Amino acid sequence: MLYIELARVYARLEETPGKIEKTQIIAEVLKDADEELLGILAGLLMGRVFPEWSGLELGVGPSMLYEAIAFVCGSSPREVKQAVAEAGDAGSAAEAMLKRKVQRTLFSKKLTVEEVYGTFEKIARASGKGSHDRKLKLLAELLSHAEPLEGRYIVRTVLGELRVGVAEGLVRDAIALAFSVPSHAVERAYMLCGDFGKVARIAKHAGERGLAEVRMSPGTPVKPMLAQLAPSLEKVLEELRKAAVEVKYDGARVQIHKKGEKLWIFSRRLENVTDALPDVAERARRCILAEEAVVEGEAVAVDPETGKPRAFQEILRRFRRKYEVRKMAAQIPFEVYLFDALYLNGEMLIDLSFEERRRRLEQAVEQEHGFELAEQLVTSSVKEAEGFYEKALEMGHEGIMLKSLSAPYVPGARVGYMYKLKALMETLDLVITGAVWGTGKRAGWLSSYELSARDEDTGELLPVGRVGTGVTEEQLQEFTDMLKPLIISQEAEEVRLKPEVVVEVAYQEIQRSPNYASGFALRFPRVVRVREDKSPEEADTLQRVRELYESQGR
Ligand code: AMP
Repeated sequence: MLYIELARVYARLEETPGKIEKTQIIAEVLKDADEELLGILAGLLMGRVFPEWSGLELGVGPSMLYEAIAFVCGSSPREVKQAVAEAGDAGSAAEAMLKRKVQRTLFSKKLTVEEVYGTFEKIARASGKGSHDRKLKLLAELLSHAEPLEGRYIVRTVLGELRVGVAEGLVRDAIALAFSVPSHAVERAYMLCGDFGKVARIAKHAGERGLAEVRMSPGTPVKPMLAQLAPSLEKVLEELRKAAVEVKYDGARVQIHKKGEKLWIFSRRLENVTDALPDVAERARRCILAEEAVVEGEAVAVDPETGKPRAFQEILRRFRRKYEVRKMAAQIPFEVYLFDALYLNGEMLIDLSFEERRRRLEQAVEQEHGFELAEQLVTSSVKEAEGFYEKALEMGHEGIMLKSLSAPYVPGARVGYMYKLKALMETLDLVITGAVWGTGKRAGWLSSYELSARDEDTGELLPVGRVGTGVTEEQLQEFTDMLKPLIISQEAEEVRLKPEVVVEVAYQEIQRSPNYASGFALRFPRVVRVREDKSPEEADTLQRVRELYESQGR
């Protein structure tokens, strides 16, 4: 398929606001696509080049991109920046610049989708010494063959801001429409294998039955089931009647997979972090008795001297560590508290009740200190649950989880099977999409960060407020270092940023507001921490902001 055809599809999607029409457009593309291409297309249509768990990232920031555009269009990075600021969008700016470019060479070839993807792959794989130049060269070469419209979408894809209003739900529905299978069957298969391309191929060849046969397999991470905010202990117990009440450990979620001698640990983002956590891997090898397993738990960092949980940042430092991992493991030892089993010895457990899954988990694991099952109390009594909650808080935990005993595990979904109750006010994880260059005491620092939530339907990021407080001078420097390479454009002191950094934000209240495109505004927002374990795709959604807004009234 020629890339220009895909670019025209993007343009149509951009002009089409309706969800149904958008779904039809995507379905047509998928229906006509070659087998091989389906895999790539499903991601590209959402503006995603590689699946999260592939470990591949382009690693191209705005400044390298502008350098490439400047090189191809015979201008300077400064001029490109200027053009982006004027157009308000890097893609449109690149398009306009490519239009003005002097005479295209006669040898300029037509780009295919496969070639564009292949170049993206090469860019992602360039690492180590000289990788900057290599990435730049590949990018410039790609853009030099691009027609203006193609340039618009290549640039936006690189920046992670496709702006055509396509999110996962639309691709799911389009696969269903294209190959006449139910949406829920597509959804389930996707959650189990994490690959829309694969799902589309199965839907095409084997229909609904084929999709139903998609199995979890150790080594391929599964999207985790998410928790809902408990309105109150009483309400949840009233709804569930009897619930499993568990300690909510404050660490990072891990999904541990085992297949014979092989062992994998995946983060919440489904990154493979096995090499960074040799101590957890060793314990898992020793304690998981089942030959094959997929289990979930929370990894908590404990201070060996005080026995108290350590800060979240320290946990993440270990997750990201590439060198001297053993030393780090000794400095910041982890304990793991398991809370679910998804697969054991060839059997997928997700459709079983939580009560049964927990029973199987107990059988499959030989517990030892540091590799244990989450502390649990099964009760229907509010009083008992309250006692457990207070005890959990006293021990320094975040709060409790309340789980339905009869519910299945629904990958990737925030259904009312699992509730969390925390002592502190619920926070939001939002994407930083803009900032302002500080003045006076804050000169030279990026401050006042624009916070955005993702609209689940369109994938678009919409601002819900700005945050400046809760940031120390040291953090200002840290944020500036982190955000400066992400600057897409600047107008006066105001910068727009490539959406990459997710922060956890506390606030006093959510208000309705005409000032922001989202329709909501946070009152007195404050940065709690950077959520390096979350990608912008995983940040909280606008739908969740609305949910929290509505729950305030209660
Ligand atoms: P939150 O990240 O605030 O939405 O809370 C849900 C997270 O709590 C899960 O993704 C887990 O990482 C974590 N967690 C801690 N303890 C438990 C537990 N006993 N059961 C389930 N999740 C837990």
